[in-house]
Order: sequence, then C-alpha cells, then structure tokens
Amino acid sequence: MPHTITISVPPDVAANPDSLRRAAAQALHRAERELGAVQLVRRSVDARRGKTLLQLKLNAYESGEQPPSPPLHFDYRNVANKPPVIIVGAGPAGLFAALKLLEKGLKPVILERGKEVKARKRDIAKLTREQAVDPNSGWCFGEGGAGTFSDGKLYTRAHKRGNVAHILQQLVQHGANPDILVEAHPHIGTDKLPGIVANIRKTICRCGGEYHFSARVVGIEVKNGAACGVTDERGVRYEGLAVALATGHSANDVYQLLEAQKWALEPKPFALGLRAEHPQELINEIQYHGKGYSPLLPATAYSLAAQVQGRGVFSFCMCPGGMIVPAATAPGELVVNGMSNSQRSSPYANAGIVAQVTLDDCYARHGMLGALAGLHLRQEVERAAWLAGGATQVAPAQRLTDFVRGKLSASLGKTSYIPGVATAPLHALLPEFVSRSLRQAFREFDKKMRGYLTAEAMLLAVESRTSSPVRIPRNAQTLQHLQIANLYPCGEGAGYAGGITSSAMDGAACAERIAEKYRTLL
Ligand SMILES: Cc1cc2nc3c(=O)[nH]c(=O)nc-3n(C[C@H](O)[C@H](O)[C@H](O)COP(=O)(O)OP(=O)(O)OC[C@H]3O[C@@H](n4cnc5c(N)ncnc54)[C@H](O)[C@@H]3O)c2cc1C
Repeated sequence: MPHTITISVPPDVAANPDSLRRAAAQALHRAERELGAVQLVRRSVDARRGKTLLQLKLNAYESGEQPPSPPLHFDYRNVANKPPVIIVGAGPAGLFAALKLLEKGLKPVILERGKEVKARKRDIAKLTREQAVDPNSGWCFGEGGAGTFSDGKLYTRAHKRGNVAHILQQLVQHGANPDILVEAHPHIGTDKLPGIVANIRKTICRCGGEYHFSARVVGIEVKNGAACGVTDERGVRYEGLAVALATGHSANDVYQLLEAQKWALEPKPFALGLRAEHPQELINEIQYHGKGYSPLLPATAYSLAAQVQGRGVFSFCMCPGGMIVPAATAPGELVVNGMSNSQRSSPYANAGIVAQVTLDDCYARHGMLGALAGLHLRQEVERAAWLAGGATQVAPAQRLTDFVRGKLSASLGKTSYIPGVATAPLHALLPEFVSRSLRQAFREFDKKMRGYLTAEAMLLAVESRTSSPVRIPRNAQTLQHLQIANLYPCGEGAGYAGGITSSAMDGAACAERIAEKYRTLL
C-alpha cells in the first residue's frame, strides 16, 4: 500500500522528479532510498497566499513497489449484428452514449447534421475569415459537437451524475494527454480535440456502429406512443429500439420540431452577457501576486461571482491564453464564445460574464411564446448584436471601463477576435436588467481581483449560449421523455447538462437506461 501525502511545493520542485522525490521523503520523514516509485495523483495551483505553490497529492511506494497501471481498458464489443439505437447528434452526449452502447452490446447509429471533423475545420475557417455562417457546420455543429474547437475544459461540479473518471479515461484512451487524469482543472485544447473525436469515430465504426454525416434529423417517428426511428433532411429513414436526442442547445429547429408535435417542452432559466478579454499577463499578475511569478506556472484562470439585487452574475468558460471565436449557428445572429490551444499560449485571457435570466424575465418579453420564451429572448439579443456589428460577424465591442460608465468607447483596444470589432454601446444593447447587473458586478469583481476593471479589457457581444433556455422534460428514473416512450432527451440541449464532461456523462447514462430496458436482447 502506498503512503498518500499532500505537499505544497514551488513550481521548480514540482517540475523536477528528483526534487519531488526528495520533498516526498522529507514529508514522510524517511530516507529517499527507502522509497520506490512516487506517483502524482492530483495537481493544482495554490495562489491563495502571497507565494504561488503547486499542491500535489502523491502516492509514495516502498522501495521495490510500483503503482498499478491506470485502468484504461474498455470492453467495446462487436455490435455489427446487434439491434440498433438511433443517436441524433455527435457532440459529447451523443459520442459517449455511443461508447456506452458499445460496452453494453447495442449498435449505435449516429446521425449528425454537420460534417466530419476535418471538413468542419474548413467551414470554421470560412466563418472566421469570410464570415459565412453555414447552419449545419461551424463552431457548434459537426462531428464532436460544440466542444470540439474549444478550450476543452473537463472539470465539472456534476460528480454525482456519473463517473467522471470513466469519461476522462476514455478520452485518454482516444488520444488525450494522461495529465488530464491528475490535473484538478484538466483541459485538452482545440489543437488536440479534433484528433480525439476522430479516434472515437474510428472505435465506433470498427465495432460495427454507424456514423452518418450531413444527416440533419427533421422528423421523429412514433408508433403506439414510442419513438422507433427518425427521418433526415434527405428523406432517409432510420429505425431503432430507441432514439437518443443529443442535439445540443443551439439546435433551435429541434425545439421547434418538438413544439410543432405538441410534445412536452419547458422554459428554463439561463444566462446572458458578454465576453470579457484582458491581457493574459495582467490576469497572471493579479492571480500570481505581481510580476515576479515563476515562468513554470501555467497561464492562469479566474472564477468570479457576485449577487446584484438578488440576481447572480458569474464568469463562465474562462479561457486562459485563448481566443474569442464567432459561434453563430445561423445567418443573422452574432454569438461569441472562447477557446484555447493545449499550451494556452495566446496573449489574451477571455471569459463569459453573464447574468442569470429567470423565467419571469423571459415571460415579461415573450410570454406568449410559452416554452420557447427564453429561446426567443436569446434570438432577439443575438440579432441585436449582429445588427450592432454591421450585419456581419464583426462583433460590437466596448472597453470595460466605458461599459461600466455607460459611455460609447471612442477607440477600441486589441482583441483576439479575428472577424474584427466595431464600437457599440453594449450597455444599451443588452436587456436593461442584464446590463445593470453586469455593470455593478464588474465593480464587485474589481474588489476581488484588483486591476480587473481596466480600460485595457474589452467586452464583446453577445455571450448567450452558456446553457439551454429550454428543457425537454424526461422521467427522472427512466430518462425517457415524459410523453414519448423510447425517446431519450440528453445532454445540454435537453437541459440536463452543461459542458463537455457532464454532457458526456448524461449521454452515457441514457445509453445505460436503454441497455437496461432491452437487456433481454443483449
Ligand atoms: C467555442 C466553444 C467553447 C466551449 N468550451 C468548453 C469548454 O472548454 N469546456 C466545456 O465543458 N464546455 C465547453 N463548451 C460547451 C460544450 O461544448 C457543450 O456543453 C457540449 O458540447 C454539449 O454537448 P452536447 O453533446 O449536449 O451538445 P453539442 O456539443 O451541442 O452537440 C450536439 C450535436 O448535435 C448535432 N445536431 C443538432 N441538431 C441536429 C439534427 N437535427 N440532426 C442531427 N444532428 C444534429 C450538432 O451538429 C452537434 O454536433 C464550449 C462550447 C463552444 C461553442
């Protein structure tokens, strides 16, 4: 049995295996020669006090002992001749539902409106450079879903909802850096994610699953109250034991499809705001207590929250060393989001800063639209941002200090956003309750991170896709839609997850329920 210890050491000690061994021996009051392998179990940055240290959880083995190899073997079965299950959407929820079906012995048939990840890259370049929005292929749609070209942050608070370690191990098995298994805040990076997503496809196809691209689902077939198949835009029908609906929260057409069928849908609180971008060096200096921080420390993140007259305002999807990207999914809208590469090496730090939007806020503006009231509020704000940017993907922008003062910026600073920015009064563009809350919250944030409220920081509109404004309600035990048996709404679009890891766990949970229901066929 190893001795498990937690030590805090300077970055240069953490980076050097010999120094680390020495530190472990000292912590255990043992001679170094008495120790065998010293294995890193968890790593986090501790910048709470004056000096920034790395907090390491270690397993120190006795001389001659070795740590067991990590459990990276998964039993994916050959499912070529097994009953099919339809999965609509190849985002994290859809892909991890498919991997779970392979483990259970059912055949996943994935229908994805977008393209293979390699072809998708070309559409993303077109959107970024030429501002051409393809409604089926871009930052949100296509193989791998919305998380494919992202920072690839993998931490989640939803530990009770599934097996986080299992998801991370599957990612490692498909090419992610094993460091994600030990980092307290693991991330993968936009340069690595496409390869991992393509490897997952290879696993699914090698085991006999099916993958269909450019197959936007426009109809769900129901017989005797149970979903039994779908039809895609080209009129092709696919039949299956069940349908997992993993279409993400940007697929407005899917919500409209369900609404047209009069199937249960619910409005859901969500969040709206802006993306803030600071120089990464400034954020490092604030978080690492001045200019003299170790070059071995990573580009640092931040997490901020404030209550403004009972309304929560919080930072979201912070991307250290990242870029702001155009994440619209239809012409006539402007949506920004953030990503970074694995090294987090850009000179910019960006984060969504959003205010909670309640059901009352949605009903006050679009009450007559019932379950889709929040979706319409989102669309209204995205369209206003598009118009304010000049009806292109140029983003309306403002200096942070001007936003707080309610003043148009006379000039704009540099940003990482490639389509470009145009000065606009963002304080007047957002709904008044969002604008007011954000302006007050930025003042509060500056008290927590001195120097955050600076004219060097830029704000870009609009950050509107933090979570789904609609829920597709399902039974808490069976995970089937409340009215339609064998229909499994899952992932972020169903309103039961937010982020890559929790969406992946939710997809896997739905696949497990499907396998339980049809265990006699396995
Ligand atoms: C730029 C960016 C950066 C992000 N960064 C992070 C991050 O660092 N960490 C994090 O945890 N989260 C991040 N997110 C959010 C994360 O990507 C989502 O939470 C997650 O992808 C949701 O997974 P999902 O499978 O539920 O849905 P999605 O990933 O949205 O996948 C849905 C899939 O369904 C397909 N689809 C939609 N409609 C249809 C249809 N009718 N027929 C067939 N297919 C359809 C879509 O093309 C898409 O591929 C980021 C998102 C973006 C856009």
